Amino acid sequence: MSSLSDIGTIKDIMQRHGFSFSKGLGQNFLVNPSVCPRMAEMGGANERSGVLEIGPGIGVLTAELARRAKRVVAVELDDRLIPVLDETLGEYSNVKVIHGDALKLDLAEIISENFYDCESVAVCANLPYYITSPIIMALLESRLPITSVTVMVQKEAADRICAPVGSRESGALTVAINYYSEPHMLFRVSPGSFMPPPKVTSAVIRMDILKEPKYDVGDEKTFFAMVKAGFSQRRKTLANSLTSGGFLSKEDAAQALAAADIAPNARIESLDMQKLAVLSKKIGKK
Ligand code: SAM
Repeated sequence: MSSLSDIGTIKDIMQRHGFSFSKGLGQNFLVNPSVCPRMAEMGGANERSGVLEIGPGIGVLTAELARRAKRVVAVELDDRLIPVLDETLGEYSNVKVIHGDALKLDLAEIISENFYDCESVAVCANLPYYITSPIIMALLESRLPITSVTVMVQKEAADRICAPVGSRESGALTVAINYYSEPHMLFRVSPGSFMPPPKVTSAVIRMDILKEPKYDVGDEKTFFAMVKAGFSQRRKTLANSLTSGGFLSKEDAAQALAAADIAPNARIESLDMQKLAVLSKKIGKK
């Protein structure tokens, strides 16, 4: 099979299979030949690892993963791509394509059924951008037995995810990701690296999953509810944002902030993970 990042090859496959891109499914296929090998290398694909890919498209990244990993499972939602993948990945005996929605499938079951003999499991994907946050959160929250998540996302999302917690660029997603993992910015990818080119620049990031969270936040539900309340009104003072939406009473918010030694007029975006963890524990005691 000639290179799957070659525009002529892609056009030929599309024509023979009567395939056209779906904007709604976030279909921008990689045509820059240097990107997928780098993603596969930096995403932890090796002869002992299993790799779960979300959204293989016509299989350009899948093939690079298959060349390096022990086994690859790729989940694709678009049924029109299943016969395409049968053809493009036919030469790889270590690849399984599953037709389904990555947000609905039981990924823990897929991992235990397919990667039982792999030393480690990594997720590697050029994500459909319309579901970047829900996919990343589903992967992290469900505490899958994975060591890392390497994904291509919009540059803006990558910047937000990799911003230090406690900086203006951080958000609720930054905090959640830093709770479960250590995020790293890997490299940027220009719009011209895709067919069709998206309007925005992209970036590849890797989240190294923590075996245990680094911070003791007390009750996790309280922690995430606090983060949600705080960032939903991020420009307001914590005294106000924590009471909006009925998360805390004025009195409880004031007491928790005082007990955590945080000024009531501070904003959530100025708190680092340690301070957020302390505040969460004080709120949990209310
Ligand atoms: N990996 C290919 C590449 O790099 O060229 C394609 C990446 S494209 C940005 C995203 C892919 O995700 C598309 O093939 C799309 O059909 C698929 N997709 C969209 N939503 C999905 C979902 N909920 N579950 C699984 N795959 C999905």
